[in-house]
Amino acid sequence: MRIERDVKLDFDDVLIRPKRSTLPSRNNVTLERTFKFPHGAKSWTGIPIIASNMDGVGTLSMMRSLAQGGVMTALHKHYDIPCYKRISREYAFVTIGIRTEDEERLRAITRLKKPRFLCIDVANGYTEKAVAFVKQMRETYPTTVIMAGNVVTGEMTEELILSGADIVKIGIGPGSVCTTRNVTGVGYPQLSAIIECADAAHGLGGLVCADGGCKVPGDIAKAFGAGADFVMLGGMLAGHDESEMDFIEKDGNKYALFYGSSSTRAMEKHAGGKASYRASEGKEVLLPYRGPVHNTLEEILGGLRSACTYVGARKLKELSKRTTFILVNRQINTVFDHP
Ligand code: 5GP
Repeated sequence: MRIERDVKLDFDDVLIRPKRSTLPSRNNVTLERTFKFPHGAKSWTGIPIIASNMDGVGTLSMMRSLAQGGVMTALHKHYDIPCYKRISREYAFVTIGIRTEDEERLRAITRLKKPRFLCIDVANGYTEKAVAFVKQMRETYPTTVIMAGNVVTGEMTEELILSGADIVKIGIGPGSVCTTRNVTGVGYPQLSAIIECADAAHGLGGLVCADGGCKVPGDIAKAFGAGADFVMLGGMLAGHDESEMDFIEKDGNKYALFYGSSSTRAMEKHAGGKASYRASEGKEVLLPYRGPVHNTLEEILGGLRSACTYVGARKLKELSKRTTFILVNRQINTVFDHP
């Protein structure tokens, strides 16, 4: 056993220090980025936010709405194959796991429409099986942009990039409906995970996607400030018209049921129940209905533009260079939160 003594940080442990700026208005901030990938062909331009491949978030309706704003969606794994005919060319990731069935599914999707972006999603990206699967996908799909994860440390980020990933997904345990840290005691505070993994990835010309733990637009700004190239959102985009889920009426109000991909509910829905050898690592929550996602997206992008203005970044690309985090004991005035 060993103890690492340097403190690892989460979004709530820091604030971004304002800096002198020559920007006249938030309107002058460009959130679009253009990325080249270490393996995948062709560059991509857009706003580097990705709706998570979760039920109620990574839907075709979400893809259509977000694509209008230049934002991406990682589609959940549960659509029938013919549905993939409708995927956007520029703004959709096809998500698969690492089982043989996933590979067969991908082959069937490819026959219909070759995906430009692939998300290989495993809860634990540290296994040899996950690394071998990434290598195999890179050999089979040499020009596809591959995002793979999840990991939280530099050495594993490097290993995945060297195995063929273009983007490494960062985050173990920070998610809004994730219970991995309670159930297993495993995890890594998300801000430090992003800082360390981004450093490792960028050294190899690779990219990282910060996945999980953003509760407010300011957290997304902190994730980009920490060096994330992409930020993936689950809970912040759940509960909207685009969820493709039935809303629940309770005491005259509408709610959406939002659940983790490893929750008992998800396993019952998609895997015929929870296998007896495994524990549920996700929970379910009722979220108040939030209307069309367009309004939420505007809030998020407005917050990001404002963050850039506060540090004098004309482009999102400059945000991390201009970010100094300050450690804080307390960051928000909650006096009216509990009247
Ligand atoms: P959020 O933006 O809601 O904080 O986090 C979304 C991320 O949480 C997802 O993209 C995924 O990586 C992770 N996640 C989703 N469901 C589960 C789950 O049931 N268990 C765990 N451990 N992580 C989950």
